[in-house]
Amino acid sequence: MATIFTKIINGEIPSYKIAENDQFYAFLDINPLSKGHTLVVPKREVDYIFDLSDEELAAMHVFAKHVALIIESVIPCKRIGVAVMGLEVPHAHIHLIPITKESDMII
Ligand code: 5GP
Repeated sequence: MATIFTKIINGEIPSYKIAENDQFYAFLDINPLSKGHTLVVPKREVDYIFDLSDEELAAMHVFAKHVALIIESVIPCKRIGVAVMGLEVPHAHIHLIPITKESDMII
């Protein structure tokens, strides 16, 4: 069965898209830890991020940097927190969490 992120990538579930290329899709988290909290997801459905090939993993981080620059261009922030959690959705993803001030952060 397709993951919720595959359904988002395929447009079956709506999302607020930030960027996309042939391999990856970036969209706003539905339950953000701060304004602009974005998820970067490979279009290839892989559960665990370290099951990606070395090439895919490198490309995902380069794409995440591109997405971070887009976020920074619209949300003034000190930096963008980068996290890999994978507790809830079994589809590899990177969290990009803008850090503007301490009160933005729940964790
Ligand atoms: P994790 O698996 O890394 O623990 O967390 C998965 C993240 O996906 C959570 O931050 C959650 O808010 C987000 N998420 C889960 N379902 C949806 C959804 O349907 N749409 C969006 N935009 N985000 C989701």
